[in-house]
Amino acid sequence: MSIIVKKFGGTSVADPQKILHVARRLIETKQPGEDTVVVVSAMGHSTDHLVALANEVAMDGDQREMDMLLATGEQVTIALLAMALQSLGQPAISLTGPQAGIHTDGLYGRSRVVKVDADRIHNELKQGKIVVVAGFQGLCVDEITTLGRGGSDTSAVVLAAALGAPVCEIYTDVAGVYTCDPRIVPNARKLTEISYEEMLELASLGAQVLHPRSVECAKDHGIVIHVRSTFRSDEGTFVKGVEALETQNPVNGVTLDLNQAKVALLNVPDRPGVAATLFQAIGKAGISVDMIIQSVRGEITNDIAFTVAAGDLEKTKKVAEQIAQDIGGGEVVFDPNIAKVSIVGVGMVGRPAVASSMFEALSSRGINIQMISTSEIKISCVVEKARAKEAAQSIHEFFGLEQSVQPQLV
Ligand code: ASP
Ligand code: MG
Repeated sequence: MSIIVKKFGGTSVADPQKILHVARRLIETKQPGEDTVVVVSAMGHSTDHLVALANEVAMDGDQREMDMLLATGEQVTIALLAMALQSLGQPAISLTGPQAGIHTDGLYGRSRVVKVDADRIHNELKQGKIVVVAGFQGLCVDEITTLGRGGSDTSAVVLAAALGAPVCEIYTDVAGVYTCDPRIVPNARKLTEISYEEMLELASLGAQVLHPRSVECAKDHGIVIHVRSTFRSDEGTFVKGVEALETQNPVNGVTLDLNQAKVALLNVPDRPGVAATLFQAIGKAGISVDMIIQSVRGEITNDIAFTVAAGDLEKTKKVAEQIAQDIGGGEVVFDPNIAKVSIVGVGMVGRPAVASSMFEALSSRGINIQMISTSEIKISCVVEKARAKEAAQSIHEFFGLEQSVQPQLV
């Protein structure tokens, strides 16, 4: 018997009708000789509702109790889906993360899976059942912990790895991975396949379709992720190893992150240790910094600018102001009205024209670039928030991303 792991996200199981739809689909698509393990998220926005409930009784509630609370969301779905399957004549059983043998490192709210004891799952499968597992949760000794928001994707891929399933299907409310969010670029194209590396960049840049850690895990274990729609039967996008890719377009995706803010320390002394002091303090405050630019102002001072998540701006300002005082100099300025637009593609390696084309696409619309950062397969620009959507559209158009074979760059 081979095994397939299928994961259904919150929008796919948002109400009883949708749960019944998922149950029917699981039965219809069950292949002879193939066992099915299903991983589900909490129904609709129920995790957000649980967080809101917690905030009503205690702001900054205890992490252990938060995990105890949030883990209940997925438990509602597993029981309902198992019942729906049974009511349609399909033997099924629901298992919590702990019952499914998912062991974590024990960090509340951001656990990593350390191992899976799959005996229970195998025993249930042997009895002809579809096994429905709660995503997003696991066990450390006798404590239930969660994997972090969006963690059900990771639960699914981890289970696929542990069970020796070559493919993990992630069912969602979109038809696959697109060259850009179709709400921003209506003629964005669905990709037939994308490499792990590109998907990891896209996911980290805020493409909501997959949890970045699930892509990392799939890459490590050579599992193909098939992102597809719960409500359509056609194939979606395969996330897999780069050697199997058919196309070599320079760019495969454009992303837009509106949830960014810029902070700058102007006129800081140009001497060793200043950046270390600043970013140590920011790191200690639990704030992740994204882009960093240091520019030379004169002989004796520099400007250091960086971006953080918009929600961290107030905290960052306080830390930066304190550091400016400590190091004797520097004025702190900030700007919440920015956005980060990025392009991703393994095909940009060795093609220097890609960066200049991106800048040209922006300048052709008179959009000013405030900051730039690059990695091997990614280029990001910070632009004014009010023009960010237009920036993404102009880049998408400039590279011809709506076409499956892009015009060659000179
Ligand atoms: N229910 C959790 C969340 O909303 C996990 C998930 O859906 O992946 O973050
Ligand atoms: Mg999700």
